[in-house]
Amino acid sequence: MTSVLKKAAPVCAFPFDNSYARLPQHFFALQEPSRAAEPWLIKLNEELAAQLGLDVDLLRREGAAIFSGNLLPEGAEPLAMAYAGHQFGGFVPLLGDGRAILLGEVIDRNGKRQDIQLKGAGQTPFSRRGDGRAALGPVLREYIVSEAMYALGIPATRALAAVSTGQPVYREEVLPGAVFTRVAGSHIRIGTFQFFAARGDVEGIKALADYVIERHYPELEAAENPYLALYQAVCERQAALIARWLHVGFIHGVMNTDNMSISGETIDFGPCAFMDAYDPATVFSSIDHHGRYAYANQPGIGQWNLARLGETLLPLIDSDQDRAVERANDVITDYGKRFQAHWLSGMRRKIGLVSEEDGDLDLIQSLLALMQDGKADFTLAFRRLCALAGDGAAETAFTASFREPETCGEWLARWRERLSRDLQSPAERAEAMCKVNPALIPRNHRIEQAIVAATEDGDFSLFEALLTVLSKPYDDQPMFAAYMEPPKPEERVLKTFCGT
Ligand code: AMP
Ligand code: MG
Repeated sequence: MTSVLKKAAPVCAFPFDNSYARLPQHFFALQEPSRAAEPWLIKLNEELAAQLGLDVDLLRREGAAIFSGNLLPEGAEPLAMAYAGHQFGGFVPLLGDGRAILLGEVIDRNGKRQDIQLKGAGQTPFSRRGDGRAALGPVLREYIVSEAMYALGIPATRALAAVSTGQPVYREEVLPGAVFTRVAGSHIRIGTFQFFAARGDVEGIKALADYVIERHYPELEAAENPYLALYQAVCERQAALIARWLHVGFIHGVMNTDNMSISGETIDFGPCAFMDAYDPATVFSSIDHHGRYAYANQPGIGQWNLARLGETLLPLIDSDQDRAVERANDVITDYGKRFQAHWLSGMRRKIGLVSEEDGDLDLIQSLLALMQDGKADFTLAFRRLCALAGDGAAETAFTASFREPETCGEWLARWRERLSRDLQSPAERAEAMCKVNPALIPRNHRIEQAIVAATEDGDFSLFEALLTVLSKPYDDQPMFAAYMEPPKPEERVLKTFCGT
């Protein structure tokens, strides 16, 4: 019934160039979006639309219809991707896009292939008992956080549009419905490989691996063992990515294997959040009862997930299984070293070092321990350290981040002594530090306030303000100084919900 109501949008809206739809049929299910009752365009990311080569004027006019799924642009080949995944450690052989529909792919202005996907546009054959819909709150959260990640320079899927559907969705309460349009280098996950492995479909794994190499890692085509090289490359990107998360206090929240992308982008922003006071055990997600995906567990969980990917690739890595296991094991062991190297080099930059000494790790760990004991705000403390690097008079502002400011004296003396052997002027150092220590992160209480205003009052001004402020996270923005502040005790948000 739904397809009868659809008409084609003008040709030029999306220059689709679809490739996933050309893969074998069991990789996906063809599925058109469902209709939304009264779609309204909350936000169109015009800059991104232009970057994707889309017709921005047309999207301003027709965006509500297109991004709700009501108007199918010409050339779209809507489909839901099949995948499996380990969810909180338990394997589910069939997940798939239960509420996401890939419209198609475009080649962006940098020549990079990008997926355009609607999330919350109705049921698919993979919906199981779900309604295929999304609530407004999680849509706004994903919009804000994915764009903030982009501005922070961290690989992530991006937000192209948010539309309210005019229809209620039924969760623990009745909530306004919305559709989120996401752009990704691709939506291929570790769980996509697991889908074929669970079925003993080695041909499927090979077709997927070949596709991934061509799309994301073309330089590996010539490698002696392209599949082993692919495994190494995915591990490298994930090691780099998770290190970047830790550098800014990001907690993904649901690092299931179906939420880890093969391209190395942060994907599936559910109950994600940024940490305020530094505590490695921080968890926000309402469904993470045992802290499996706590802040400091993320590198280890990344490794666990990548080991699951390695298992799926074994038959491609070597026809001799023992040899394949040995080679994959070397890669996964190496991941630990790669992560540590990325983490340490980023942390060195955070404390203002360009040179390397053996004692740096201890210096960094001592600061983190001090921050944990002193309940220092992670973002503010590092940002104030930038100021202190440039101007010794800024010490009181830095130490004021700690519960007992006087506990910082010894560490600051060690730090200054170490800086004396690092060849940068104070001004250069402060400037370099400001480029890696953000002033502004999407603080959880601010996101929550924006969601409440939008959901309860239809007021999107806080959402818009957050997007503006977070688009320049490394700049001091005196006008928006309040956005730098951690939550007051009554504003603290302790739990986030994925809202599925
Ligand atoms: P997530 O944890 O949000 O990444 O989702 C895990 C799985 O549940 C994926 O297969 C999703 O497609 C599916 N899912 C989540 N929410 C819904 C929903 N409202 N309707 C149908 N499927 C859903
Ligand atoms: Mg997911």
